[in-house]
Amino acid sequence: MEQFHFNLVRWYEEKKRNLPWRETKNPYLIWLSEIILQQTRVDQGLKYFISFKTNFPTIQDLAKASEMEVLNLWKGLGYYSRARNLHGTAIYIAENLNGKFPDNYDDIIKLKGIGSYTAAAISSFAFNEAKAVLDGNVYRVLSRVFGISTPINSTQGKKEFQALADEILDKANPGTHNQAIMEFGAMQCVPINPNCENCPLNFMCVAFSEKKVKQFPIKIGETKISNKYFVFTIIKENGKILLEKRTDSGIWKNLYQFPLTEFESLDEKSAFLNNRAYDFISNEIKHILSHQHLHCTFVISREKAQIHHPNYSWVSVKEIDEFPIPRVIERFIEENHLLIFNT
Ligand code: SF4
Repeated sequence: MEQFHFNLVRWYEEKKRNLPWRETKNPYLIWLSEIILQQTRVDQGLKYFISFKTNFPTIQDLAKASEMEVLNLWKGLGYYSRARNLHGTAIYIAENLNGKFPDNYDDIIKLKGIGSYTAAAISSFAFNEAKAVLDGNVYRVLSRVFGISTPINSTQGKKEFQALADEILDKANPGTHNQAIMEFGAMQCVPINPNCENCPLNFMCVAFSEKKVKQFPIKIGETKISNKYFVFTIIKENGKILLEKRTDSGIWKNLYQFPLTEFESLDEKSAFLNNRAYDFISNEIKHILSHQHLHCTFVISREKAQIHHPNYSWVSVKEIDEFPIPRVIERFIEENHLLIFNT
């Protein structure tokens, strides 16, 4: 293992990207970066990290902010439950832990929105606690280097890979080891066509020596995807547009949208659209989430009647940017600004 650790860390010191969250031991900032980077590319997450750090330099600042401010700053990143958990956890820490971020894995993992990977990342990066991280990049590296064919998304696989990650962790330098193996997976041992000929771990890589790199990591049947069929109705009156606040507990909780009608099937949605007259009907826009495909159509309605509902607000063109809006709607507005606001 000595050669493995040496080569991995030497590669990391030479090739690592300079990222601001690697230059701090502040657990709040490390936590912030980890939550932003879930399901987000590093180049996209970077500007959000800087903007959160600038607007909320401490956990107390984040706790004091309104949920609307936090969601607005999160705009464009998607998966808004991350922002809500971030804010809720900051409030919890400010009110119950004297504003002090917990300093060990067992306490960190009790916080809402933090799973085993994030708790291991924060405790090892900030406090050098010997907890091995296991994310998609680490699974790929371990499965290839050690030639493990247990599916990474099976219960057995999760146990086996965690045991291996714990075993090979450099207990003297867990923070650097974890950063290095994740970066190695992200930059060197990439999913498609890794440069194996020029790799510091090829001397011990089972997948490379057996010419099976493409086969690793092994996964069993992917998660079932469900389809939802949405019609968003754009209703305008006196230069204002109707927005609805979502109050359900779903992924778009407390975000704003054009009033939505939801269907279980394409047939139901088509029947609904065919029975009404509209000034405009968009092509269908498919919005892909991890477990759901949303089939969205936007219509501009001819009905000008006043609509009263506690969750509805009339909003002017200038104000619309101040509302947190799901990414699919935001993109539609960006691409159809003239159509929506000038017709
Ligand atoms: S030899 Fe190839 S598959 Fe093996 S660790 Fe290096 S890059 Fe990954």
